[in-house]
Amino acid sequence: MSELLIGSHVSFQKNEQLLGSVKEALRYNANCFMIYTGAPQNTSRQPVDKNLTLAAYELMKANNIKLANIVVHAPYIINLANGSDFAISFLKQEIQRCQLLGLDKIIIHPGSYVKLSKEEGINNIVNALNKIIKKEQKVFICLEVMAGKGTEIGASLQELKQIIDGVNYSEKLKICLDTCHLHDGGYNITNFDDILKEADELFGLSSLACIHINDSKNESGSHKDRHENLGFGDLGFENLLKIIYHPKLKEIPKILETPYITETENSKIRLYPPYKFEIAMIRAKKFNPNMKEEARTYY
Ligand code: FE
Ligand code: FE
Ligand code: ZN
Repeated sequence: MSELLIGSHVSFQKNEQLLGSVKEALRYNANCFMIYTGAPQNTSRQPVDKNLTLAAYELMKANNIKLANIVVHAPYIINLANGSDFAISFLKQEIQRCQLLGLDKIIIHPGSYVKLSKEEGINNIVNALNKIIKKEQKVFICLEVMAGKGTEIGASLQELKQIIDGVNYSEKLKICLDTCHLHDGGYNITNFDDILKEADELFGLSSLACIHINDSKNESGSHKDRHENLGFGDLGFENLLKIIYHPKLKEIPKILETPYITETENSKIRLYPPYKFEIAMIRAKKFNPNMKEEARTYY
């Protein structure tokens, strides 16, 4: 008996760390989740508190959340394609933090080549991963497929494969799919079986570690990467449901990264997490057009 694995990204804050993340996931009725081990847009990090980690494990156990279904996301500002040592040493530290938390999957965006050529960018990523990955490490690095915004590398499965092929300990690499990125990158997500077939041929389906479930504000091939709440964008709720309930993705954590719902009051903007409501729609298998309004009323 295995039930649907569904969750969202949740915060990891200094007071409660992983314990707070588990509590937040439970408020959303999730059974898996993703964290940034600090703010996603910066690299300042706090030491991992062992007691909070142990308390988090207790709460997870009581609620049947498995460690294997928690994933970490590296901050999106680290860019392995630019050849800098900073990104390398930071990712090494992030892997240490994953180990301290007992988590074995960290998702990275491969990087952006900016003013280099794409080939140089890919080479830099490969070299960086070869400096980072140790033979004995327990943490898998999961390369996320990108939307191809600007000079992003990894906007196709083939490009991820190109990186993997250059890495010595490539058995430490896994793949993270993202429905919005695939769609914006030009894939037809209504033919998800074709995408899975391609992934299977390139990496083997056992390499799929996580799938980000997002709708998109833009059309396929737009390379924009602007996430939308489920059913409010170009992918549509029914197409997303088919992916979420796909039998081949049953064991894979499905993580929402959809935008917070906004409310403007006296020119002040308030933000509300949509995840409790989106997860309810997913479990009910029914789109709720009033979801945003209900979230605003709830919080
Ligand atoms: Fe990502
Ligand atoms: Fe993503
Ligand atoms: Zn994205």
